[in-house]
Amino acid sequence: MLRAAFHIHTHHSYDSFTRPQWLVDRAIRLGIDSLAVTDHDTLAGALETKRCATQTKLNVIVGVEYATDLGDIIGLFLHEEIQSRHAFEVIDAIRRQGGLSILPHPFHHHKQVEDLAQNVDMIEVFNARIRPDRNEKAVALAAWAKKPAIIGSDAHFLNEIDNAIIYFDTSGPLTKDVILQTAQQWKVTYTSVFKTQCSQLVKGFKKRDPILLRRQLYTMLAENAIKLKNKFV
Ligand SMILES: [Zn+2]
Ligand SMILES: [Zn+2]
Repeated sequence: MLRAAFHIHTHHSYDSFTRPQWLVDRAIRLGIDSLAVTDHDTLAGALETKRCATQTKLNVIVGVEYATDLGDIIGLFLHEEIQSRHAFEVIDAIRRQGGLSILPHPFHHHKQVEDLAQNVDMIEVFNARIRPDRNEKAVALAAWAKKPAIIGSDAHFLNEIDNAIIYFDTSGPLTKDVILQTAQQWKVTYTSVFKTQCSQLVKGFKKRDPILLRRQLYTMLAENAIKLKNKFV
């Protein structure tokens, strides 16, 4: 059995502080064999994580999550950055590099979701940061499009990386064909809403966006005030 974790962000994303070296150390401690790093709009985090893991037994899959005109598209096994931000061009470019295209969290800010589902190689049917009803719709979409399913933690903090673990029935290595064709078992946990909100704070901080920072802080304070009130009243 090979243990793998997909859809992981590092500090190369605008909403994460995670250092690639921390990721490598934690993945090894958790007994993870393969890690697919997919930062927002850059291969840099995956490449840095791969460099950090060279002297270890951890296999790092170089990936990225591009924000396209129709929503996020993930590419794995990439060698070069893709310049286009048109969804179908991005999917074609991933294919030309011999990569694997994934439609992540299909019911979170995507347009033409059926067309996208029919064009990608795989569909993310569980994302640890997405509402359960949206993940359920993603399961139905993958069945409708007859596409293989994959899961992702969408980890923005270090302690989220094992929220979605896939066990592949193989001794490895984890190639594109193994991901597409080998039997998988999953172990999943949802990320807390608090952590998802904290990523928005990180985004506001890193983008030097005081409006986003203030709005997010107020939302979190207000929600916690309501929770506290319900506890004591
Ligand atoms: Zn995304
Ligand atoms: Zn993501």
